[in-house]
Amino acid sequence: MKNNIINQNLNNLEIKNFDWNLIQSEMKNRLGVDIFESWLKKIDFIEEHHNYLLLSVPTRFIRDWITSRYLDQILQIIKSYKKDVTRVEFKIIDKTKNEYQNIFEKTKDNENISFIKDSYLLYNRIDPNKRFDNFVTGKSNKLAHQASLKVSEKISYYNPLFIYGGVGMGKTHLLNSIGLELKKDKKVMFISAERFMYQFVKSIKANDMVKFKEYFRNTDVLLIDDIQFMNGKEAMQEEFFHTFNALIEKGSQIIISADRPPNRLSRIQERIKSRFSGGLVVDIQKPDIDLRKKIVEKKLEELCSLYPEQSKISQDVQNFISSEIITSIRELVGAINRIVSFSRIYNKTPSLSETKVILKDLLNLNENNVTIDLIQTLVCKFFKISKNEMLSSRRSRYLVRPRQTAIYLTKILTSKSLPEIGREFSNRDHTTIIHSVKTIEKLKEKNPEVTENINKLKNQILYNKENEI
Ligand code: ADP
Ligand code: MG
Repeated sequence: MKNNIINQNLNNLEIKNFDWNLIQSEMKNRLGVDIFESWLKKIDFIEEHHNYLLLSVPTRFIRDWITSRYLDQILQIIKSYKKDVTRVEFKIIDKTKNEYQNIFEKTKDNENISFIKDSYLLYNRIDPNKRFDNFVTGKSNKLAHQASLKVSEKISYYNPLFIYGGVGMGKTHLLNSIGLELKKDKKVMFISAERFMYQFVKSIKANDMVKFKEYFRNTDVLLIDDIQFMNGKEAMQEEFFHTFNALIEKGSQIIISADRPPNRLSRIQERIKSRFSGGLVVDIQKPDIDLRKKIVEKKLEELCSLYPEQSKISQDVQNFISSEIITSIRELVGAINRIVSFSRIYNKTPSLSETKVILKDLLNLNENNVTIDLIQTLVCKFFKISKNEMLSSRRSRYLVRPRQTAIYLTKILTSKSLPEIGREFSNRDHTTIIHSVKTIEKLKEKNPEVTENINKLKNQILYNKENEI
């Protein structure tokens, strides 16, 4: 009964030409009844706007499971109905705790976060689980972390603080941590750029700009996530510009995140970009192996308090995950969640080969399009030799090193077995393959230039950027 009311409430929101039931049945078809019943059925539709959908799931765990395994397929299905949709976001709503009811009925929030009635209520993006104390630091994110701590201690120290970096690198986590810290005694507003635009347009339509201005200009701290999605018309940028200036003038702190530096934001006015660069601009880079290891440890430690038995993952598996899941911290965290879920479901901790199966699609993602042919082609270009020379049996020094490099890269970037690799390199014996791999590993340890070349090649191969050599 309660659910019906909830659903009605949900359906009254802006669902236009959009039938969630249809999407659900399509998910069932494409992903199978088992997966649907165990996971996807738990997804509810909250609202749609611009180019993304807000969905809900009952727990963080289910969200992580779904995002790490099925998100691409879900998005594809949604796109087949609405091609404008480029993203989905999940909100965690535990229905058993009646939170839906809260969302729709609670009009006052006693926390120090401001909302514009109904719509902002749905958009309290401050997540109590993304804090400074569980943000693991390393070379790649140290500066961004320090700057975030600094503004949390002393607002306006850097103003604005602009944090940029690729997907899943921890930008939202940092903004969230700042928000959590500062909301203890300040008015904090945390909003995505998309939401800002949406709210702006809505306020104009409702002839309610006064309230909009009031809300944004009264905050002590404004955190705007993913500013690259801001692509509004003149009027909106104008409003944003004035809000921005008004806030800075009155000493409020502004923190912005983006996937690129200010000067590369394409649809934003020059004067706004130059304001963005006026404080401190810091980036977060891809995590290196040390940071990945630390994150794996920290994450397991956290999970251990929830599932003590199932979080005992062998060192082998831990090493494998931290050395193979290299694209983003989000994927790394997703991978760990998946492994721990496996041990919960099957009541055993996975072996290394089981891990490879469980993480297959994530691993494929990394080796996307990586074929032996591509590796050989790119390595030959890099060392300026021909493919015939590489595959010949000649042992001149200038051929041996490239050959060993190509063999080494094949070993680490594909899932081919040693004999398979041997066959692709003119039927070489698998002991030759092992020898090549070991030689390069040793060279890498001794010689930074070798490591650098290997990394360059690895990047070219992974991104398949043949034309950039
Ligand atoms: P972004 O906003 O850059 O796309 P997020 O902040 O959403 O990335 O991070 C993706 C996931 O990885 C989140 O679950 C986040 O908590 C986690 N994460 C990212 N960086 C770290 C870190 N340094 N330490 C711990 N967890 C992290
Ligand atoms: Mg983010």
